[in-house]
Amino acid sequence: MAVLQSRLKSLGYHPGPIDGIFGTRTQQAVIRFQRDRGLTPDGIVGPLTYGALGIRQRLDRPDVGTTAIVNTNTNYTYDVLVGDIQELQRRYPFLEVGVAGQSVLGRNLYYLKLGNGPNQVFFNGAHHSLEWITTVLLMKFTENFLQAYTKGTSIRGYNPREIWNMSSIYIMPMVNPDGIDLVLNGLQRNNPFYQQLISWNRNSTDFSRNWQANIRGVDLNHNYNASWQLSKQAEPAYGITGPGPTRYSGPYPESEPESRAVADFTRAHDFRLVIAFHSQGEVIYWDYLGMAGQQAWEIATQLSNVSGYALDQTTGIASYAGYKDWFIEQYRRPGFTVEVGRGTNPLSISQFPKIYNDNEGLLLLASIITA
Ligand SMILES: [Zn+2]
Repeated sequence: MAVLQSRLKSLGYHPGPIDGIFGTRTQQAVIRFQRDRGLTPDGIVGPLTYGALGIRQRLDRPDVGTTAIVNTNTNYTYDVLVGDIQELQRRYPFLEVGVAGQSVLGRNLYYLKLGNGPNQVFFNGAHHSLEWITTVLLMKFTENFLQAYTKGTSIRGYNPREIWNMSSIYIMPMVNPDGIDLVLNGLQRNNPFYQQLISWNRNSTDFSRNWQANIRGVDLNHNYNASWQLSKQAEPAYGITGPGPTRYSGPYPESEPESRAVADFTRAHDFRLVIAFHSQGEVIYWDYLGMAGQQAWEIATQLSNVSGYALDQTTGIASYAGYKDWFIEQYRRPGFTVEVGRGTNPLSISQFPKIYNDNEGLLLLASIITA
C-alpha cells in the first residue's frame, strides 16, 4: 500500500500521507491516474492499474484470487487471525487495517474497514472466549466481500461496490484474543496470571470448555457502563465472588483494556448501527430496558427475517453491562447482540457453513439498512 502511495506521489497524484492506508485521498489519486491513462476510473487497483503504475505484483502465488484465505475449518487462534489479515492485505492492498488497542497480554485488537461511505456501522466478534466461531464469521464475510468487490460481482443481490460508496463497515473480529488463546492453546507456563488463573478456575487447568472471560477473569460483556452496578449486585445470586470463567463484571466499568478499546473505538466514530456477535441460540437481542425504540425493532425484524433468527429480550444478569446495552443507552441508536448457531459452547466448527449462510444476508443488510 505504501508502495502504491509513494508511486502515485512521485507521479504527481498527491495521495495524501504515505501511511499505508487506502483512504479517500489515495482512492481519489488512483481515480485521477486511471482517468489520465485511459483505464476504467473505478478507484480499484487491479492488475491493469498496477501495470500502468509500473508496480510489479507478487507473482509467487499463481493461485491468487482463487484460493480462499480464511480457513473456516480450523481452531481460529490469534495467530491464525494475524496471518489471515496479512494475507488479505497482500491480496487486497486497498483493505484498511488498524489496531484499536491491546489486550491485557499485549495482543493487538485489530479492526478492518470495508468501504468509504458516510454510513458507519460496526460489527464485532468474540467478546467471549468460547465464541471464537464469530471471529471466523466476520473474517469470512470480509474476504467474500473483498472478493466480490474486486471482481464486480454481486452477493445475494447486493452490489458490494454500491455498499462501498454508501457505507463504512468497521469490523473488529476478535475482541478477546487472550481468552481465545487460553481456550484453544491451553494455559502456558509463562502466562503472568498462571497461578491465579488456576485458582480462578477452581483449581482446574482445563479452560477449554468453560472460560468466557478475558485473561484477568473479567467477563468483557459485563464490563460496560450500562447498569453496571446492577450486574455487580447480581453476581452473588449467580455464585460469582471475583474473577472467574464467566459473569464477573470487573472492579468498575471499562476496567479492562479490551472493553475500554471497544468503547473508545465506538466513541471515536459515528456508528449508526452496531452488532456484537456471540454464540449460541440463533436469536437476536435488540432492546435494553425499553430504550431501543420502534426503529430498532423494525430493523431487528428485518434482520430476523433474513437470518431466520428469532427476536428475544435478555433476562436476569444478562440484561446489564453488555456492549449493545451500553451502545443503546449512550447513543439511542440500534445496537444488537446476535447469537449465532445452536448447542453448547464452544460450538463445533462443523456448524460454520450454516452459521455463515444464516448471517451473510444479515451482515449485508445491516451494512446499508436505514429505517
Ligand atoms: Zn457471548
